[in-house]
This record gives sequence, structure tokens and C-alpha cells, in this order.
Amino acid sequence: MSTSGVRVRIAPSPTGEPHVGTAYIALFNYLFAKKHGGEFILRIEDTDATRSTREFEQKVLDALRWCGLEWKEGPDVGGPYGPYRQSDRKDMYQPFAQELLDKGHAFRCFCTPERLEKMREEQRANGKPPGYDGLCLRYSAEEVTAKMDAGEASVIRMKIPTEGACEFNDGVYGDVSIPWSSVDMQVLIKADGMPTYHMANVIDDHLMKITHVARGEEWLASVPKHILLYRYFGWDEPKFMHLSLMRNADKSKLSKRKNPTSISYYSALGYLPEALMNFLGLFFIQIAEGEELLSMEELADKFDPDNLSKAGAIFDIQKLDWLNGRWLREKLTPEEFIARTIEWASENGRLTEGLKLAQSRISKLGELPNLGGFLLSSDVGLTPASFGGLKTSPAETLEIINTVQADFEKMPEWTTESIDQELRAVADKLGKKLRVVTPPLFIAMSGSQRSLPLFDSMALLGRSVVRQRLKIAATVVASMVGAEK
Ligand code: GLU
Repeated sequence: MSTSGVRVRIAPSPTGEPHVGTAYIALFNYLFAKKHGGEFILRIEDTDATRSTREFEQKVLDALRWCGLEWKEGPDVGGPYGPYRQSDRKDMYQPFAQELLDKGHAFRCFCTPERLEKMREEQRANGKPPGYDGLCLRYSAEEVTAKMDAGEASVIRMKIPTEGACEFNDGVYGDVSIPWSSVDMQVLIKADGMPTYHMANVIDDHLMKITHVARGEEWLASVPKHILLYRYFGWDEPKFMHLSLMRNADKSKLSKRKNPTSISYYSALGYLPEALMNFLGLFFIQIAEGEELLSMEELADKFDPDNLSKAGAIFDIQKLDWLNGRWLREKLTPEEFIARTIEWASENGRLTEGLKLAQSRISKLGELPNLGGFLLSSDVGLTPASFGGLKTSPAETLEIINTVQADFEKMPEWTTESIDQELRAVADKLGKKLRVVTPPLFIAMSGSQRSLPLFDSMALLGRSVVRQRLKIAATVVASMVGAEK
């Protein structure tokens, strides 16, 4: 049990590839718990049933565990306040919503999606901020019952004060004041009975006895809704800390269009989790030059939530490379280095599956590095010359790469079969034969037209590495299109 009573959590939504931003927030919470002798727990927030999948959930758990962030309670390890997956807690939220209705803090809203759309359109046209206009507040209890009895669909929304501002203290931002007029009458329970993020998040943080909520700054504007819910229920609110988001070098929000953002990309390229945690941990602590190389224990020692680093969290890959190189050289013994390398090469079956694919394609083992090295390489060295021998023009090649890139983002599953299907669909869409579409992709993946079977290779490389290689290929080919003009 925690000696300090401090309980923090990471609450990922399993809606995509595990993001380095999740590791960054998780690390903060983990260090915070360690520093205070508290507990770090993991809760899966899958209230968005259309976007959440068990596959992504497993990936989040695997990725955070790879980072070395162990949780005391979670969907996979259980704990006294479970279940730790919101979809498994579904029935726990309804009585709380009823309590808010009974106390007059919430109301049923029968507005149809069409009416809400029209309302939003009008708000846009009149330059008004978007938000529910409160139409359904006018119904009496009898009218609501009659509508419910008639089977009209409804959601439950929270009431928001009409005057004044929500004042609170944030551990990072200090005193914050947000006028209630800018806070929407948030839907708490959707028409299908599922809670929204806001409702489930507050109830779970309370029931799971969370004392400190540290999360990304994008949630700061939601705090008034959350605080209001705590007050409506008569519960103590946790201490909030909103951390600045990680940014690209140009200060834009870290996004996969500019930098690879998936944790799996960094593990696939052979960054050590210790180095990644070291790199992310430096965003929180103040240290002098020369003190950068820090283990998790050392990060926790130096971590001081009252004295957080003021520097922005710029995701500087060169710095990560530098730290990773130092970890490889200075922190691993030769034996550890060898063991870690073999473990890394075997990740995701790259070594064994790659060898199986290569067996029928070589006449001596010495050809293996050239043929299959791209499965492990961090850079396949694409240049315009790599694409020189293609039958398709640079403009056509670019169209193929761009189409594949966009369509891959929409694929729910990442397997040899799903990639096969997707590329056939792309060929159909472009009115080209599959054998015309695949050569540029062979090159994008391996740097060569002669390599291992494409669909299997893409499956082994993983979504995030494929994304990055396609992005590089698109840039190279785009320069060729430009040069033609
Ligand atoms: N599920 C939210 C997310 O993934 C968690 C936000 C929070 O920590 O309250 O960003």
C-alpha cells in the first residue's frame, strides 16, 4: 500500500498506435508516484467504442511495459478498485448520472443530431462559440417522463452556472480562471447509455482514489466541467497538473506527419527504453549540463514537481540519438549489448520470420544482409537514383505512394493479409495492375527492387516504420517530380 496516500494514473484511450506523448505523461506520473512513495495505476478509457480496440489496448500495455513503467493496478494485473477498463465498468456510471438528475444538476436532452447540427451551423454563421443552447432545460419533470415513456432517445447533460468563472489552481499553470460562459453543457451519458470521457474519468478518478491528475495541457479547458462534477457529487477534487505537450522543433504539436510518434517506431529502430525514458524525463527536471545521462532511479531522485523544468518539451531526435548512443556505449556491458541486440533483432519476429522469407531466395548466407537487412536497418538510404529504374513516371510513383500512405492510415488491422487486400484495393482504385503498384513500394521499404516479399515485409516492419519509410519515399519522389518540371 502507498505510505503517502498519493495515487496517480495514466488513463490511455486505446484508439491508435501507442504514442510517445502517452509515455511522456505516464513517465511523469510514474516518477511522481516514486518520488512520493505513492502508487501508479493504469486505467483504460475506452468509452469511445467506435475507435477503441482490444488490439490497441494490448499495444498500449506492451509499449508502456517496454518503457519500464510498471503499474500497481491495471486491467491486466487487477487491483482493489477494478475493473480498470471503462467498458467493463459501464453499469457503474448510470446511478451517478441518476443522482445528478435527482439533485437537479443534470437534465435529459432530447435534441436530435439534426437539430444540434442546425444549431451549430447557426452559431457558426453568427460567429458565436459552439455549445449546447439549453433548449431541453425548459421541460418539466412530467414532460420528460412522457417523452421517455414514448421511447424518445435522450442523452444526459450537465448543467453549467450561467455567471462567474471557475477558479482553480493547477500545479503547472498556477491560478487559472475560466468563465462558465465558455463551458459547454457537456453530455455525460450518451444515447446508448455509455458515459462520455468526462463523466467516466471523474467518477473513476474518485472511486480509484486518485489524488493527483497529471495529464496533457489539452485537458486544461475541461477542468471546469470536472471540478463542477466533483462539487455536484460532494467529492474532494484531485490536484490537477497540466503538462505542456511535446512539440516538433518548429514548435508545432508533435504529430506523426512531422516526426514518428509511435513508441513502436523507436523500439523498432533500436532505441533503448532506458534512453527514451531518460530523454523524456529530462523535460521534467532541472539539471546542469553534463548531468544528462540518467537512469529511472536517478530521474526519480532529481524529480521535483514543485520545481519543474520551464523549458518547452521539444522532441529533438538528435538529442535522443545522442542519449541513446551514450546509453549503448556507457551503460551497457559488452554482454548486455549483445543480449539486447539479439532481443531487438528478434522483436516482432523480424529475425526468424525474415530468415524464413529469405531461405528460398539466396544461394549463400552471405547474401542475407543485402537481401533482408532492410528489416532491421534504421535507414535504407533512399535517393532519387533508388527510384530511377521504375516503369512508372515520378508523378505516377508519387501518386501510388501517397495513395498507399493515406489508405494505410485507415486500416484497422496490420497483417500480411490485410496489407495484401489493401494494396489490391489501391491498385483497383488507381486503375493499375498490382505489379505496377508494388515496385515503388519495394523500393520505399528496402531501397531495392529485389528484396523479400512485400506484404510480409511490411507486416514485419510494423505500421510505424512503414509509415516513416513511405514518408521519406514520398519526399524523395516529390523532388524528382519537381525536377522534371
Ligand atoms: N483518456 C484520456 C487521454 O487519453 C485521459 C485524459 C486524462 O488523463 O484525464 O488523453
